[in-house]
Amino acid sequence: MNVVDEIFEMFARRGDEAYFGEPVSQTEHALQAAHQAEEENAPQPLIVAALLHDIGHLIHGMGEDIADRGIDARHEAAGEAWLARRFPPEVTEPVKLHVAAKRYLCQVDPAYFGMLSPASVQSLALQGGPLSEDEARAFESHRYYREAVRLRRWDDAAKIAGLQVPGLDHYRPALEAVARIQA
Ligand code: FE
Repeated sequence: MNVVDEIFEMFARRGDEAYFGEPVSQTEHALQAAHQAEEENAPQPLIVAALLHDIGHLIHGMGEDIADRGIDARHEAAGEAWLARRFPPEVTEPVKLHVAAKRYLCQVDPAYFGMLSPASVQSLALQGGPLSEDEARAFESHRYYREAVRLRRWDDAAKIAGLQVPGLDHYRPALEAVARIQA
């Protein structure tokens, strides 16, 4: 099966599950994040990163109440590992850094914490809380940190119940263009 069909199957199988404590499904969340990326004319790999940033949730097989049970599923690491065999760093690095980007924004943007949803505040604690000032400077040394911060803001805003946005098929050409050629 090619990468794109594999991704579509994962969304078909698990995408209707709720997005951890938010009023949208996993698929709706992904589509809303990708749509914002496209609206901001983000480069194609970053649109794909927005679409796939939580693919780790579709892989790991844990229930939707993991944060309630005090478990940080480390979904960004699971997602990055899966994506790394299929996509270039322009996709995988922002995905890997999108949780750190939330911790970073809590340090550098005083208004940011107040915009987080209750579920996101809860998971922040499990993810280690805000970065320190030194950690924030270190985060800025990542080559893809700006992309990760952009992705993070789309992620945070991709939780609107009932919002009409383009469907998965809309992103097939971008996925095909950005995915590594399969052996
Ligand atoms: Fe997300």
